[in-house]
Amino acid sequence: NCYGKNTEEPTFSDRKANPYSHLFKYIMVGDSAVGKSNLLLQFVDKRFSPNSDFTIGVEFGSRSINIDNNQVKLQIWDTAGQEKFRSITRAYYRGAVGALIVYDITRRETFEGLANWLTDCRKYSSTDVTIVLVGNKCDLEASRQVSYAEASSFANEHGLLFFETSAKTGSNVDEAFEQTAKIIFERTKNNPQ
Ligand code: GDP
Ligand code: MG
Repeated sequence: NCYGKNTEEPTFSDRKANPYSHLFKYIMVGDSAVGKSNLLLQFVDKRFSPNSDFTIGVEFGSRSINIDNNQVKLQIWDTAGQEKFRSITRAYYRGAVGALIVYDITRRETFEGLANWLTDCRKYSSTDVTIVLVGNKCDLEASRQVSYAEASSFANEHGLLFFETSAKTGSNVDEAFEQTAKIIFERTKNNPQ
C-alpha cells in the first residue's frame, strides 16, 4: 500500500519504520505565475507569499491527512519554475496518482494552455491518475477573465474534478487536495497498485 513510488524519492516501503499507511504522489502543473507554489505553501504550511520569485528553489512539500482513520501522506511535487522553460521531465510525472492542473482565473491565456498540460499528465503519470482542474486567484473576482461555468464545463467534458481556489485567502485549498485524496483512496483501497 505504498503508492507514488519514484526512484528519486524515499519509498516508505517498510511499514514498521513508517506511520503512513498510504503515500500518494501529487504533481502540480500549469503555466508560470498561476499560483502553484503558493497553493502548495498554503496547503502544507498555511502561508502565502506575495513575492513572485517565490517559485525558485521549491521542489516539494508533504502533509498527512486522515481518511477513514487511515493516515495518508500527500507528497506534492512542485515544478520549481521549470515550466517557464518547458523543461518538465518525465520523471516529474512518473507515478503521480494525483495531478493539479492550475490556471489563473484572471489570465485567460493560462486557461487556453490547459489542454497541453492535460495531455502530458495523461501520457506520463500513472494510467489512472486523478486530475483536478484548479482555477486559482478567486479572491480577484473583479479581474476575472474565465467564468466558473466555462471552466466547469471544460472539467466535465474531460472527466476532471474542478475547484476555484485562492492560495491567498486559503479558500478551497484544503478541499482541492483532500477531495482528490479521497477519490484516490477509494479507487486504490480495494485494488492496490
Ligand atoms: P507559480 O509560478 O505557478 O508557482 O505561481 P506562484 O505561487 O509563484 O505565484 C505567482 C504570483 O501570484 C505571486 O506573486 C503570488 O503571490 C500570486 N498569487 C498566487 N496565488 C494567488 C492567489 O490565490 N491570489 C492572489 N491575489 N495572488 C496569488
Ligand atoms: Mg512555482
